[in-house]
Amino acid sequence: MSTAAKEEFETTDCIVCGVDDTDKISEYGQFGLPAHVVICRQCGLTYLNPRWNKARLTKFYEQEYDSYYRPSMSSDSEKSLYIPMYERLKSKKIELSKMNNILDVGSGEGNNLKHIIEQLPQASFYAIEPSPTCRNALKEINVNILGTDVEQEFDTKFHGFFDLIIMRHVLEHFANPINIIHKVKTLLKADGILYIAVPNSLNFGNHKLLDHCFRMVHTYYFNIHTLKNIFRKAGVAVVWIHEGDSYNEMELFALLRNGEYEDVSINKECYTLQKEQFNQKLKKEKSIIGRLKSWLKKIRS
Ligand SMILES: [Zn+2]
Repeated sequence: MSTAAKEEFETTDCIVCGVDDTDKISEYGQFGLPAHVVICRQCGLTYLNPRWNKARLTKFYEQEYDSYYRPSMSSDSEKSLYIPMYERLKSKKIELSKMNNILDVGSGEGNNLKHIIEQLPQASFYAIEPSPTCRNALKEINVNILGTDVEQEFDTKFHGFFDLIIMRHVLEHFANPINIIHKVKTLLKADGILYIAVPNSLNFGNHKLLDHCFRMVHTYYFNIHTLKNIFRKAGVAVVWIHEGDSYNEMELFALLRNGEYEDVSINKECYTLQKEQFNQKLKKEKSIIGRLKSWLKKIRS
């Protein structure tokens, strides 16, 4: 690694245990970019260490993320990635028609959000989005821009303001998800709902770890056990947490409310379970047959 590249990195302890006691899982990931994936031997939390520092990540989200992850911006709200959230909230008898203020963290260009906007015409929508191009697109569909970064200070009039806060596939991107949830819940009404969905690190389906799942921008890889620990430490109460459904087998999602801080559950079995999953997948991916299959798939597509 060059000196310039090294300066873009920082190291961290496990945010749940407060110690640095890990096994290395991988050194690179998607697009051949470095992704130093490690697993905590105490609690099983999987994260990047070292990882890009705040300045490098901010630059990536503002200037580079769109070209990697949003090459073609779809405008078909029928295919919205927010449909599962909408249906899951309805199935839990959450009264969406009574929600007036909804905040979406990391909205992208807003095409996915359109579906929910159409379903809930009574509500005002707000977004926190780092990409300037995406912020302009959001304004076009009348979404208010609350900010560019969850970690910034928000006007006190937005404290306890939102009926629903959506964090769909964003929690895995932050340097400290516990602090982020802590911050976000100050914006939630006393009886508000926080919806969080993340990829499930115990079920990546047929996606390859090295070509797809392990990413420089995914600073954390949660499973149901490690995510519950994050919630306990962030002082949110779990109304419902679930691994996969007919909408998305590989998603881990939760409905949360303001709650109490609880002791985390340090369970060695979680480390063993998660590490075994990674090892099995990596063994397959690195085998000659596995690499041949992947190569054949690539030349056929
Ligand atoms: Zn830990």
